[in-house]
Amino acid sequence: MKRETKLMHYGRMPTPGPANPPVMRASTILHDTVASYKGTKLARESDDAVLSYGRRGTTTAHALAAAISDLEGGEACFLFPSGVAAVAGALAPFLGAGDHLLVVDTIFPATRTYCDTVLTRLGVTVDYFPWDTTDLGAYAKPNTKAVMVESPASQTYEVMDLPALCADAHARDLLVIADNTYGSGWLYRPLDLGCDVSVVAGTKYLGGHADVMMGAVAVKGRATAALRKHTHMTGQTIGPDDAYNCLRGIRTLGLRLERHEENGLALAKWLADRPEVASVVHPGLPGHAGGEIWKRDAMGCNGLFSVFFTEGFDAEGFVDRLSLFAIGSSWGGYESLAMPSNPEAGRQFPNTTRSGQMVRFHAGLEHIDDLIADMQASFDAATG
Ligand SMILES: *Cc1c(COP(=O)(O)O)cnc(C)c1O
Repeated sequence: MKRETKLMHYGRMPTPGPANPPVMRASTILHDTVASYKGTKLARESDDAVLSYGRRGTTTAHALAAAISDLEGGEACFLFPSGVAAVAGALAPFLGAGDHLLVVDTIFPATRTYCDTVLTRLGVTVDYFPWDTTDLGAYAKPNTKAVMVESPASQTYEVMDLPALCADAHARDLLVIADNTYGSGWLYRPLDLGCDVSVVAGTKYLGGHADVMMGAVAVKGRATAALRKHTHMTGQTIGPDDAYNCLRGIRTLGLRLERHEENGLALAKWLADRPEVASVVHPGLPGHAGGEIWKRDAMGCNGLFSVFFTEGFDAEGFVDRLSLFAIGSSWGGYESLAMPSNPEAGRQFPNTTRSGQMVRFHAGLEHIDDLIADMQASFDAATG
């Protein structure tokens, strides 16, 4: 079955019944007999979708987890109350005092903060490596346990060669954990490319409407048992209302991403020709760092891209004058966004060939003509 069709059938209820798995609110699940109670406890050890206790999710969350697991090509999927909680929950099961973790330098900033504060306090040492690394020989140590990657890079979108990196990491007996929020199971599937664990902030494209916080960790192979155990022991769970909203967002994931990609590429190309713009970073633009790898490994681009304005151009003034692009963190909702940022801050291997103020844009689902007219008007007001 084509994946577009599957989006419409995830969590389908027995008929006659509702199209969507209803919001099931529950902590205690009641039984009539001791045998039934004991049977459920036993069954949930081998089946994540057994209704046993609210913390293990009800049918609403089970339907969402099964959908994300399928999107990501996982054996199992566990849900978390935010993307950052999912990142933490994907790393912690595999690390303890005395262990060493390798992290790609272009990682999402909150992941870096978690590694440099919480993990180091627990006795884990953390080192960073450049995004284009495919041989970890210069970075791995005898106590290295895992590698954390993100492709394309946070805010600057350099594309990693995940198949090559994973082959090298596995030869060294290291687990590879990927942050796949950019691809969100639709554009990119790290588990298919050799990664052991794939994290998605469902807050972004899965929810898709800027109204849900959610994180998911999909897993397959030898990492599965440890991840399942750690998730349960740390009490990670999501509410049924959030699960419902996220599954509702997933119905239109494919359609939305088609438009996000179309609008993002059109804006990126239009901006690249402007005299006020020094460079545009977008994995679908010719000459992009790792762009040929993205073509090989991915199924498309999302609505994100970043613009480096020429030295001296008032980029913040330009953003302030936009009316269809609101200023804000996060992305992946239906709306267009702009966020000034300094992506190289805190990186150990910063790209020093770029200068000028950077603005990260998210192309929403508006009509492209209106988005371009909005930018045109803001440029006109700057020079006129
Ligand atoms: C947003 C984001 C997260 C964190 O998700 P939250 O739901 O905001 O906690 C993690 N990784 C990446 C790449 C993100 O963009």
